[in-house]
Amino acid sequence: MITSLLIANRGEIACRVIRTARRLGIRTIAVYSDADAGALHVHEADEAVHIGPSAARESYLRPEKILAAASATGAEAIHPGYGFLSENAEFAQAVMDAGIVWVGPNPSSITAMGLKDAAKKLMADAGVPVTPGYMGENQEPEALAGEAAKIGYPVLIKAVAGGGGKGMRLVEDPAAFIDALASCKREAASSFGNDHVLIEKYIASPRHIEVQVFGDSHGNVVHLFERDCSLQRRHQKVIEEAPAPGMDAATREALCAAAVRAARAVDYVGAGTIEFIADGSGALSADRIWFMEMNTRLQVEHPVTEEITGVDLVEWQLRVASGEPLPLSQEELTIDGWAMEARLYAEDPAKGFLPSTGRLELLQFGEAEGGRIDTGVYQGAEVSPFYDPMIAKVIAWGEDREEARERLGAMLEDSAVWPVRTNASFLVMALQHCDFAAGRVDTRLIGRDGEVLSQPPVPSDEALQTAAEALVPAVLAPGLRLNAAPARKAWFLLDGEKIEIALEGEGSEEPANGVLVTEQGQAWLLEPWRRDGAHGAAAGSGAILAPMPGKVIAVDVSEGQAVTKGQKLLTLEAMKMEHTLTAPFDGVVAELNAGAGQQVQVEALLARIEETA
Ligand code: ADP
Ligand code: ADP
Ligand code: MG
Repeated sequence: MITSLLIANRGEIACRVIRTARRLGIRTIAVYSDADAGALHVHEADEAVHIGPSAARESYLRPEKILAAASATGAEAIHPGYGFLSENAEFAQAVMDAGIVWVGPNPSSITAMGLKDAAKKLMADAGVPVTPGYMGENQEPEALAGEAAKIGYPVLIKAVAGGGGKGMRLVEDPAAFIDALASCKREAASSFGNDHVLIEKYIASPRHIEVQVFGDSHGNVVHLFERDCSLQRRHQKVIEEAPAPGMDAATREALCAAAVRAARAVDYVGAGTIEFIADGSGALSADRIWFMEMNTRLQVEHPVTEEITGVDLVEWQLRVASGEPLPLSQEELTIDGWAMEARLYAEDPAKGFLPSTGRLELLQFGEAEGGRIDTGVYQGAEVSPFYDPMIAKVIAWGEDREEARERLGAMLEDSAVWPVRTNASFLVMALQHCDFAAGRVDTRLIGRDGEVLSQPPVPSDEALQTAAEALVPAVLAPGLRLNAAPARKAWFLLDGEKIEIALEGEGSEEPANGVLVTEQGQAWLLEPWRRDGAHGAAAGSGAILAPMPGKVIAVDVSEGQAVTKGQKLLTLEAMKMEHTLTAPFDGVVAELNAGAGQQVQVEALLARIEETA
């Protein structure tokens, strides 16, 4: 077994690989860019090497920097994760040439599957059914239009070098073909440096079903069953599950056998995924499922397979790369229960899914039996604009599909992230969509009902009431109560928007300056509205507010004490980070509301310094 491993990636997948490597006693080496100096994968690795500026093309995508880091740290092997250099055959070759173990397939397998047209031809020759279409050399617009007519509309134009859902155009009307082709080629040239396209029959009611395959260097190839990734937004996966709803034993056997044939055709070693497109207009049947492409790496959604098979796929990758045979035979692999994964993103569905970057002041994940969180961030970390804004993969296992779906929904509903926006409530609504709940999934569901699913959620009246009570002073002295207190109307700011709330309770003895309302996987900041406009941080007032929810771990001053500007007042701890709060100017501690060990809300008034004249 290898004894040290460099992970040429970042975020959740780097952390995921580190977790298994550590369990196996392997020394781990992280690489990081400027933006990632404080990232979770850097904390979790045994060593970390800085590889350059924040932009990926100047750091994570630079083979020579990764190789230099490996040589400087004496790394025995390199794991590429997914994305970045994972499907770069030249990089894989360079790693091997440097005498380092490449945790992945042979470069020749990557090349064979790298272009969609060549891969489809290879698969057709190996007896694997491929999506009907044109994959020839002729790239003349008129010739391609002729091929599209022969295939029959609707058709899909696909960049042969495409990936990540980019470089694809659905054409439903022949009149739109030439324009769609030109725009697809432009996108392909700029994103992939290759403007060749293929034309495919657009499959009606498409379902994305893929098979996890695994090969070793002793000629063994097995499959680990299928995953259904049909819930997609713009050809990108949103929710994945295993097994696939409605998959019968005979169809599964035929599909998985085809996947193993596909892997064998390229002498596949390591973890790979064969992606198929299925006609979902009726029951699944092997003669209506076609090969689409192969991903020659670990897939984002690999956890759902791990959850139903009990296999740690990263462990298998490391064993196979070390020359060991596959730990289990095909007969020893079975499906236990059901698993579902949702990709929790820092993005705002209400604003066209624009990435939402910034500091994760609050980051809480819901918990459930059978639940699993794969994340690459922590509370207090930054979501930077440089990379994929994924916060976590939220995964749930259950005895059956319904249990997995309910657990995943509960985990997402109980998650709270602030002030960064997330797609959590969008995911919850997608899970509750009647078609999805019934297992009737196809890739166009979100396209059809996306507007409803991306409605911004609003907090419930109950939650607002409770929060508002904590923000207004008590009306009466404690102990004195009216039988039916008259409702008091008061103004508040909800995420900066002025709203009116009719209060029914008594208010609070010690009102807070702000309360985070968390519900439905979302978080909103409720603050008292002030006529003078001095909201929120009460700037310049000497108010010492908690910058995030956390625990007070030390108080260095007492009430009435004189302090000087910059003097340490107290220390707050919020997941893995300590924040020291200091005096903004010379003065006295006029108010002190914090004690060591106390949990505090964001913007809670911890202390107030009064300026000395
Ligand atoms: P999958 O089918 O597993 O979703 P994709 O081909 O869509 O695979 O891409 C794999 C993952 O790698 C995606 O989550 C994508 O965001 C990420 N990825 C791909 N290329 C890059 C890149 N250049 N930089 C950062 N992340 C990338
Ligand atoms: P990428 O390399 O971007 O992942 P794929 O070829 O895997 O490209 O296609 C991405 C998605 O596009 C699929 O998951 C599916 O939703 C859709 N798609 C691809 N080919 C077809 C097709 N022939 N008919 C219908 N939908 C398709
Ligand atoms: Mg794909």
